[in-house]
Amino acid sequence: LLTARGIRKSFGDVEVLKSIDLTVPRGNVVALIGPSGSGKTTVLRSLNGLEVPEAGTVEFSGGDVVDFAQAPSKRQLASLRDRSAMVFQQFNLFPHRTVLENVIEGPVQVQKRPKAEAIADARALLERVGLGAKADAYPFELSGGQQQRVGIVRALALKPQLLLFDEPTSALDPELVGDVLDVIRELAAEGWTMVLVTHELTFASHVADTIVFMDGGVVVESGPPSEVLQNPREARTKQFLHRLL
Ligand code: ATP
Repeated sequence: LLTARGIRKSFGDVEVLKSIDLTVPRGNVVALIGPSGSGKTTVLRSLNGLEVPEAGTVEFSGGDVVDFAQAPSKRQLASLRDRSAMVFQQFNLFPHRTVLENVIEGPVQVQKRPKAEAIADARALLERVGLGAKADAYPFELSGGQQQRVGIVRALALKPQLLLFDEPTSALDPELVGDVLDVIRELAAEGWTMVLVTHELTFASHVADTIVFMDGGVVVESGPPSEVLQNPREARTKQFLHRLL
């Protein structure tokens, strides 16, 4: 579904991504793991044009090759954004809008879909994640875990081809993590294509087809969980996993 090649990104003098390649087959779950500051979030944001890299290409099947070295046009960046939807660590819900208003904002304002249809879709999705009764609540009335499930519904409502999750459970109290991981697990089972930045290695080992271990702005190794997590080849991967055990 998605191929990224040679992605480079600097902030000031610091090269945060040093030529990243990433392939995401349709229906697969790819988990990005690695130490804090290794560039995982920046990769995710580069895939949907929230961050504009200095070099590299991103291509969705059937779409243009977006070449960042050639200063992509607004239209090309918009086409990247349209194909994916992001779930953020801090939920990023609009505080003064209800749950339902948060969910229909993108479909109605950005995608210009009929409001009645967007509302019907939103209600069905909220029902699915156990939040049907919360449609008219405001974010502050919900637990973190409920807010993040709204964050996921908001992404799904855009009907993207690719879901991007940026540490979706790291802002949650431990007892609320499970519900959010359950929703992500169900989406994986339904065949959604996802790229997930996570520190939840046990979860990643169950849900991911591919684990990508990053350190210092490079992909150190990638492969199925049985290799990268259970049987890592690289010393840096071993060290990282060792520290977490
Ligand atoms: P974490 O697990 O802590 O979220 P990460 O692997 O996702 O880390 P990134 O968030 O991608 O890492 O950040 C990589 C590096 O780029 C860090 O050193 C970070 O400080 C830096 N960085 C990220 N965004 C910016 C920015 N907008 N301006 C300047 N530096 C940035």
